[in-house]
Amino acid sequence: MSAGILYLCATPIGNLGDITQRVLDTLRVVDLIAAEDTRNSLKLLNHYEIRKPLTSYHEHNKYEKAEELVSRLQRGESIAVISDAGTPAISDPGEVLAARCIEQGIRVTSLPGACALITALTMSGMKARRFCFEGFLPADKKERRRILEQLSQEERTMILYEAPHHLRETLRELDHTLGSERRVTLCRELTKKFEEAMPFTLGQALAYYGENEPRGEYVLVLEGMDPARKEESRRQSFQELPLAEHVAGYEAQGLSRKDAMKRAAADRGVTKREVYQALLREE
Ligand code: SAM
Repeated sequence: MSAGILYLCATPIGNLGDITQRVLDTLRVVDLIAAEDTRNSLKLLNHYEIRKPLTSYHEHNKYEKAEELVSRLQRGESIAVISDAGTPAISDPGEVLAARCIEQGIRVTSLPGACALITALTMSGMKARRFCFEGFLPADKKERRRILEQLSQEERTMILYEAPHHLRETLRELDHTLGSERRVTLCRELTKKFEEAMPFTLGQALAYYGENEPRGEYVLVLEGMDPARKEESRRQSFQELPLAEHVAGYEAQGLSRKDAMKRAAADRGVTKREVYQALLREE
């Protein structure tokens, strides 16, 4: 018997019209629909008059339930996965099931459609040629600090998901790490009646939410670090280091004196000759 197929089906993120014909056709023919929130998904399925067996697949049963679903797929059943909203596997448990199926040699296919990160990025006006998606920042303090530090050097546009009750705290941390002047577009209620994409600097966003209650789910689209400014701050940090120490640092890494001077010159944005002469003066 051949194994079934796992269909990752994108569903609307707010507007019931945002579902593809192919997703509807697939939901009508599969043996089982695994839904993150069965009550919520029932509204969608009822709206489209789709009557199929439903089972819950969510954050708290994603590992055990994946095994059960994999067994059913191995027995030849076809299964569609739908998340609470948007594209399964993007910041939701569909990721675990897809990975487990691939490990087991089960075919996984993805039916594209609504996704909050792409909707927010495209309407933000921020650079979309290169971007990185961070999902929700981790709750663990140490890990969170590590990621924020990494993001402080990121040149690409950054996209984050956030729930309303954590928005202020996240804005405060971003403001602290990326600086108050960094541009951010806060997108909320996407595809819904009161959809908003609010362009701010981080400082302005903090002030705004100091006075206004965050409402609804948010996508934060952050401008990446300007490469020229990044280079400038790198140079500045080297300027603070005494030249002899700078060169010695590279020599300690195994570079010849000549190469160490070359590297230090590049770091400081000066010529090798200038480094050489400055070192002579220091000696
Ligand atoms: N799988 C989904 C997708 O494709 O975007 C994301 C699921 S994740 C559990 C939920 C988060 O997505 C929310 O906290 C919010 O950050 C974002 N999100 C989903 N729908 C949204 C909407 N209509 N407006 C703004 N953000 C939304």
